Amino acid sequence: MTDSDRVSLFRLLPGELEAVVAELGQPRYRAEQVLRAAWHQSPASFEDMRQLPAALRADLAGRFTLDAATEVRRVASDDGGTTKLLLRMSDGTLIETVLMQYPEPGERHPRSTVCVSTQAGCAMGCVFCATGQMGFERNLKAEEIVTQVLHIARLLRERGEHVTNVVFMGMGEPLANYAETIRAVRLLTDPKAFGLGQRHITISTVGLIHAIDRLAAEGLQVGLAISLHAPDDTLRQRLVPTAGPTSVGDLVSAARRYFKKTGRRVTFEYALIAGQNDWEETARELARLLHGSGAHVNLIPVNPTAGGFGRPPRRTVLAFERVLREAGINCTVRVEKGSEISAACGQLRTDESNQFVGESEISLSPVAPRRGSRQETLSPAPSQTR
Ligand code: SAH
Ligand code: SF4
Repeated sequence: MTDSDRVSLFRLLPGELEAVVAELGQPRYRAEQVLRAAWHQSPASFEDMRQLPAALRADLAGRFTLDAATEVRRVASDDGGTTKLLLRMSDGTLIETVLMQYPEPGERHPRSTVCVSTQAGCAMGCVFCATGQMGFERNLKAEEIVTQVLHIARLLRERGEHVTNVVFMGMGEPLANYAETIRAVRLLTDPKAFGLGQRHITISTVGLIHAIDRLAAEGLQVGLAISLHAPDDTLRQRLVPTAGPTSVGDLVSAARRYFKKTGRRVTFEYALIAGQNDWEETARELARLLHGSGAHVNLIPVNPTAGGFGRPPRRTVLAFERVLREAGINCTVRVEKGSEISAACGQLRTDESNQFVGESEISLSPVAPRRGSRQETLSPAPSQTR
């Protein structure tokens, strides 16, 4: 078996690993030992799994890899609440992962949310999104999605903390990489693998209707966020060029179906862009569209990117929010964390990739806040209230 025939152990669901261990003639508890070591102890090699007999370690090493992501760059916000990582996959692909931490009242440890990428680049072309402007590079495999969480879990473990939430809001469109995204969700939530509660996971989508219905039928309890950005189809198509001609009404219906099937309310994300979709009249139209849907709206004052789309002034954001609230729409404005770092997914790679791509030796820069850099950005955190 050559190196390229070996698959990542982090791709295997517990049942699949149990089958391999049985095939190797080993008792069942050995599979549990492998799973515990792999998912909670960050082994660098199978040799590190000392609790296993040498023959089993050798068998596993012949079939599987324990490939982890390589950290290329780390940027932290001044308050330390947001940490953004540029990670390199084993084939050299660069992607971004963000850790967002919030103090939890009454808890000893902060809420630690990992924002994962599901694709390198994205084919959806949203005009205000740095990832969309890169174009599509490739889908990430499930193991490459979960390795982002494992990387952060290791950092947190060193300080006695742990990952509490995962949001699929990094680079790429998760539902355009459906099978690998779902496999990643199952790996992250299986009690015998990473073991996170399903309700602690949120998938954000630009709104692929068929995939939303498919997700609703998976029997999962994950949260869903739909990136709406506009209350009418013409405006939405301008901001999301790949959106279909009748997307807005279809998305609201899909959200209703998702709620009906899963019992989980959908959040609509709305990137507020100066002079584009931030008018009070637009807010009224949005309120009419969502009236009675029970949906929650998360307003995201946009991060300026190369496309020249800017963030509205604060009073415009507040006016937009007020209109929605007065119309009875449940609404929050995303808290701005990491405002001095390129915290919107896709931005760090866009800013930095030229100096990294193609270099064989990259020096790791441990937490390197770019103090003084006053670029306004925000984090892709889910539904944070002010
Ligand atoms: N593709 C999925 C998930 C990744 S994008 C989606 O579009 O939902 C995650 C969120 O970040 C989306 O709501 C997206 O609209 C938002 N986003 C993208 N670029 C942004 C920017 N420059 N400023 C603020 N939010 C941005
Ligand atoms: Fe892709 Fe989401 Fe960016 Fe749109 S906002 S280009 S769907 S990553």
